[in-house]
Amino acid sequence: MASLITREEALRLGEIEDHDQIEALIQRAWEARVERFSDSTDMCSLVNAKSGGCAEDCGFCAQSRFADAETPMHAMMEPEQILEHARAAEAAGAHRFCMVTQGQGLSRRDFEKYLDGVRLVSEHTNLKRCASVGHISAERARALRKAGIQRVHHNVETAQSYYDEVTSTVRYEGRLRTIDAVREAGLETCVGGILNLGETRAQRVEMAFELAAIDPTSVPVNMLNPRPGTKFGDRDYMDPWEAVKWIAIFRLILPNALFRLCGGRVENLGELQRLAVRAGINGVMMGNFLTTLGNEPEADREMFEELGLNVARQPDNAANPRPDNRSGWLEGETPDVVEDLLEAEAAPGPVDLGVRLWDPSTQLRYHAKRSVPPRPDGAPNRVPVG
Ligand code: SF4
Repeated sequence: MASLITREEALRLGEIEDHDQIEALIQRAWEARVERFSDSTDMCSLVNAKSGGCAEDCGFCAQSRFADAETPMHAMMEPEQILEHARAAEAAGAHRFCMVTQGQGLSRRDFEKYLDGVRLVSEHTNLKRCASVGHISAERARALRKAGIQRVHHNVETAQSYYDEVTSTVRYEGRLRTIDAVREAGLETCVGGILNLGETRAQRVEMAFELAAIDPTSVPVNMLNPRPGTKFGDRDYMDPWEAVKWIAIFRLILPNALFRLCGGRVENLGELQRLAVRAGINGVMMGNFLTTLGNEPEADREMFEELGLNVARQPDNAANPRPDNRSGWLEGETPDVVEDLLEAEAAPGPVDLGVRLWDPSTQLRYHAKRSVPPRPDGAPNRVPVG
């Protein structure tokens, strides 16, 4: 479906700074969201299944070997470890679970192990399954689908005209080829990026229309959480009103996409997270992110419920059906973890949900790097002033 605003209107809205005008824009985005998705939500959670030591040079990322930053570091998880994290995500109320690995390609051995993890999650949980494994061929996309993956995440990160500032080793065209391969395999696409990498307002509009041309099922919106010792390590957070304004503009440019708030939302939006949901968000990344901590799941659920949205698992989420995998996906017997917990919550008296969230600060070994090679683009790594 076509965008609800033109490029010119988006550029004009991008210049708004008056809070009343931003509120009016948010109301427009909220109406567009409710019209298409009613009260449904699409909440996800992730596991960092392979972390650190990445050969690429993405300027926002502590996992890059060129970043002078501490990073969680571990080899590909065992399939059972991936399942353990999936179970925690399900118990926390997530609808879908993304299994993420660093870098732009997995070795054959790691990919096989990854597929085993996907099969376990498919068989033993009711979560929808997403993959984020860098560049993939059509053949690998088909293998992911066969193992039980339903959606593949691969960001464009930023506007094409700003892309070379963000990474010099990962090609933009490779990203587009991966997205095509994912579609060819009959999988859903999840494509978004990161705001506040230094792009201009016009480049944000450019990025939104580039995403509209890709037409992904889902769009993750990240806001830079500057990691000290990365290329963008000394950037300030976004002004929260500026951030919610851009979420609303993106929603009007991509009215049919499922928008989710991901990395940097807590730090950049602060008290305005609820307003950001009103600006057109369908869901959030619950729990923690790849290398940083997030909100408590209860706080996230409350935030959506206060706006009259339904965070329970549903047979579909309006525009994009989420078939329940109990109806036969891989013919697995699957536990009703979330329903049981929600029933327990409704009962009087204290309830210990016993949810162990993915916590990169305690579950991972942090490595200070012994030596950091110079960035291929020659840019320095930065730390916040003072
Ligand atoms: S964003 Fe991904 S590809 Fe880029 S440096 Fe980080 S882990 Fe590597």
